[in-house]
Amino acid sequence: MNERSKISELKGIGEKTEKLFEKIGVRTVGGLIRYYPRSYEIFEDPVPIAEACEGRICTVTGAVFGRIQVSGNRNMQVTTLYLKDLTGTLKVIWFRMPFLRNTLAKGGPLTLRGRIVRRRDGLVMEHPDIYCPSSKYEEKRNTMQPVYALTAGLSNNTVIKAVRQALGCVDAGQDILPESLVRMYGFMPYENAVAKMHFPDGKDEFAEARRRFVFEEFLVFVLSLRRLRDEENRAENRFVLRDQPEIGRFLEALPYSLTGAQRRVWKEIKADMQGGHVMSRLVQGDVGSGKTVIAFLALLLAGLNGCQGALMAPTEVLARQHFENISGMLDKYGLPLKAELLTGSMTAKQKKEAYGRIESGESSIIIGTHALIQEKAVYKNLALVVTDEQHRFGVKQREALAGKGNTPHILVMSATPIPRTLAIILYGDLDISVIDEMPKNRLPIKNCVVDTSYRKTAYEFMRKQTAAGRQCYVICPMVEESEALDAENVLDYSQMLAEAMGGQVRVGCLHGRMKQQEKDEIMDAFGKNEIQILVSTTVIEVGIDVPNASVIMIENAERFGLAQLHQLRGRVGRGKYQSYCIFMTGSKAKETKERLDILNRSNDGFFIAGEDLRLRGPGDLFGIRQSGLMNFKLGDVFQDSSILRQAAEAAGEILRADPELSSPENKKLSAALERYITDQNLEATL
Ligand code: ADP
Ligand code: MG
Repeated sequence: MNERSKISELKGIGEKTEKLFEKIGVRTVGGLIRYYPRSYEIFEDPVPIAEACEGRICTVTGAVFGRIQVSGNRNMQVTTLYLKDLTGTLKVIWFRMPFLRNTLAKGGPLTLRGRIVRRRDGLVMEHPDIYCPSSKYEEKRNTMQPVYALTAGLSNNTVIKAVRQALGCVDAGQDILPESLVRMYGFMPYENAVAKMHFPDGKDEFAEARRRFVFEEFLVFVLSLRRLRDEENRAENRFVLRDQPEIGRFLEALPYSLTGAQRRVWKEIKADMQGGHVMSRLVQGDVGSGKTVIAFLALLLAGLNGCQGALMAPTEVLARQHFENISGMLDKYGLPLKAELLTGSMTAKQKKEAYGRIESGESSIIIGTHALIQEKAVYKNLALVVTDEQHRFGVKQREALAGKGNTPHILVMSATPIPRTLAIILYGDLDISVIDEMPKNRLPIKNCVVDTSYRKTAYEFMRKQTAAGRQCYVICPMVEESEALDAENVLDYSQMLAEAMGGQVRVGCLHGRMKQQEKDEIMDAFGKNEIQILVSTTVIEVGIDVPNASVIMIENAERFGLAQLHQLRGRVGRGKYQSYCIFMTGSKAKETKERLDILNRSNDGFFIAGEDLRLRGPGDLFGIRQSGLMNFKLGDVFQDSSILRQAAEAAGEILRADPELSSPENKKLSAALERYITDQNLEATL
C-alpha cells in the first residue's frame, strides 16, 4: 500500500464507507493524509462551576442536584439537570435525549464538557458530552482530538481510524519542498509534519506542522501568480479604448462630483486601457468609498468604443442592483448602449434571449453573477471584465471571465482592508489603485453596543427615523426559529417588529431561502421606500446601496465576525443623512464586549482588521476564523501574513535561480505547480 492506493485497501473501509469518503473528496490514501482536520477538540482541565465562562467550551465535574426533568414536545424533547459543585450550580440541557433521565439519575460524580451559553434564564451548558464515571475524562485530559469535516453517515471516529492507518504509508517522495527550503526555514520533516497535522501533542507542535503546510500552500500560489503575470506582461493591448466625449458629459451630469481619489483612480484606469499592454488592475477602497461609479465608467468606455464590458457580482441581489443602476443611467443620460442582466435564477427562455443579444453584440454592458462564465455565454467582443467584491471570488473565476474574451482588460474591485505590502503579494498579477478618501457629503456613522434591554428604545428610535423619511435594516443571524440555537430569526422577528411598530411602519423581510423573484421584489420595494424597515439575514452584506437608509441594527452581533459586521454597517452612511449602527448583543462575555468595542470606536476597515488580529493574538491558531480571502485551504492571509511574506520571498529566490523550475531540486515543486494550475482551470471551466 502507498499514497496512491485506493482507500478501500485500508482495513475497515468497505464499499459503503468508500462512497462516503468520495463525497468529501477523498479517494486515495494520499488524499486522506492531506484531508486535514477542520479543528481540534482540546480536553482541558475541568473548571469550578463558578468559573464556567459564557461562550466557551468548558469541562465541569459535580453531582446531580435535584430531579432530572424532560420537557418539550415529541419532536424536541429537552432534558434538564442541575449540576452542583462546591462553588455553585449549573443548569445543563440536552436535546432529543430523554433517556438520560434514567441513565444519569444514579448519582455519583459526573463530568460534563460542553458550551456555556446565555439563555433567557441565565448561563446554561448546552448538550454536553458526558463522562460517567468522571475517571473516563482522565484518559482524554490534555489531549487534542482532530475534528474532521464530515458528511451524513460518516463519523469522526471512522475518519480518525482510517487516518491512523493511512499515516503508516506516508511517502517522503510526496514532499514538494526543496531540501534547501526545509533547512532554511527549519521546517519539520515531511512525514512528521503530516502526522502532527492530525494528531499533535499540544498546540506548539501543531503550530509547527501547520506552518510548513501553510508555507507550501502560499508558495505554490505565489509561483502561479508569477506565471500569470509573466504571460500578462507579454499580452499587448488589443482593445485600445479611447476617451469619449460622452464620458465627460456623463461625469458632469452626475449628482455629485468625483472625489480626488476617484478621479486619480479613473485616470489610472484610462491610461491602462489606452496603453500598450492590457490592463490588470485592482481597485481597493473601503465600503462606501464609491467604487461602483468607477466600474461603471470603465464599462461605459468599453461600450462607447464599440466593444463589450462585463461585470460579475457575488450575489444576485447585488448584480440586479448594479443592472438597475446602470440601465437607469444609460436612460437618463441618453447613452446609446444596451445593458443586459444574466443570473442563474432567470428562466431558460430569458437566458437564451440574453445569450442571443450578448453573442450578437446588441448588448454591450453585461452585468451578472457566476452565470456570466457559464459555457453558453458567448461574447462578441469582450474588451473589459470587472469583478465586484473580488474577495468573494477566487482567482480562477476572474480568469474564467477573462477567458470569455481575447485577453480583455481586467478590473477587480475589493473592499478588503489589507495592507499594501500584502496586497502586492496576493494580487501579484495586478496593479493596485487605492480609493483612500470618502465622498465629502458623508457624516461618520454613530455606533453603539447595547444589550437586549435597549430594544424598546431602539424601536422608538427607528420609528422616529422612519417618520422623518429614513429607512432601517435589522439583521438577524437566522432565517427561522431553531430549538438548538438561541438566536433571533428573520421570520418571527419581522412579525414581532411589525406588531411592535403598531402597523404604522411598513416592515418587510428578506433571506437567502426566498425565491429570487421574491427577493427582487422586496429589494425593489425597499429601494422605493415602500418598505421602511427591512429585516434581513446577511444576504444584504455586500454591495447593497440604498442611501436613504440611516439605521442598521444587528441582532446577536456576537455571532458575526468583525469584518462581516463592518461590511454590514457599510449599508448605512452612504448618503447625506446622519446614520447609526446599533450592535445588539445577547451575550455578556468579556471577549464579545472587547471585540464589538473595536467597531464602536472606529469606522475604518484597516484599523478594525488590525485590532481584530491583535485581539486574537498571533498564537490563536484554533480560533482562526478563515478570512475567506482567496479561498486558501489552510492559510489565513491576515493571521499568517508573515508566512505569506516568507513564501513570496522564497518564490522570488527560486525563480531567480531557476526560472523554469527545471533543476532536479525543484522537480516536485514544479509538478505541484502544474497540478495547481490545471486544477484551477478545471474548476474554472465547470
Ligand atoms: P462601494 O465602494 O462600497 O462599492 P458605492 O460605489 O456603492 O460604494 O458608493 C456608495 C454610495 O456613494 C452610492 O450611493 C454612490 O452613489 C455614492 N457616491 C459615490 N461616489 C460619490 C461621490 N464622489 N460623492 C458623493 N456620493 C458618491
Ligand atoms: Mg460596492
